[in-house]
Amino acid sequence: MHCPFCGAQDTKVTDSRLVAEGDQVRRRRQCAACGERFTTYETAELVMPRVVKADGSRESFDEQKMRAGMSLALEKRPVSVESFEAAVERIRQRLRARGDREVEAREIGEEVMEMLKRLDHVAYIRFASVYRRFQDLDEFRAEIDRLAQEPKETEREDAALGERSSEAARSRPSESKRKS
Ligand SMILES: [Zn+2]
Repeated sequence: MHCPFCGAQDTKVTDSRLVAEGDQVRRRRQCAACGERFTTYETAELVMPRVVKADGSRESFDEQKMRAGMSLALEKRPVSVESFEAAVERIRQRLRARGDREVEAREIGEEVMEMLKRLDHVAYIRFASVYRRFQDLDEFRAEIDRLAQEPKETEREDAALGERSSEAARSRPSESKRKS
C-alpha cells in the first residue's frame, strides 16, 4: 500500500502478527522512500445482523453506540486500548457467528456484559447493574450519563457478582429493581 507520509508506492511489511485473539492481523510497515513506519490492521469484512429493538423496530448494527456504552463503563479503569479493541472485535464476531440475519438488542447487551466481565470486574458491575434495568443501549446511555453526575464506587460489587448467571442476565426490568 502507499506510504501515508510521502505517498510513495513501495512500502514493505516488517512484521505481521495475529492480535485480538486471532481475529485481526496487525502489520508493521515501513516506507522504502522516506523510512517512516506505520501499522495496519486487517479484519474480515462481514455483514453484521440487523438489530431488533425492544419495541420491535429494526435498525442497523451501530458499533459506535456499543463502543460508547463500553467506554462509559470502562471510564478510568486500567484496561488497555488493545484489550478494548479485542473485546469489540470479539463481540462483533460472536454476533456474526450466530448466523442469524437479526439479533435482539438485548442480546447485544448481554454479549457486552460477558466481555466486560472478562476485561474488568468494576466495569462489568457498572454496566450490568445499570443495563439490566433497561431495554437497550440507548436507555442505558441516558442512565449512565445521569450516574456520571454523582460518581459512586463499587461497594455492591460482591453482591452483584453473586448473581451473574445467564438467568439473572435475562431478568426483566421489573424483577431487578435493585438499587445501584
Ligand atoms: Zn514514505
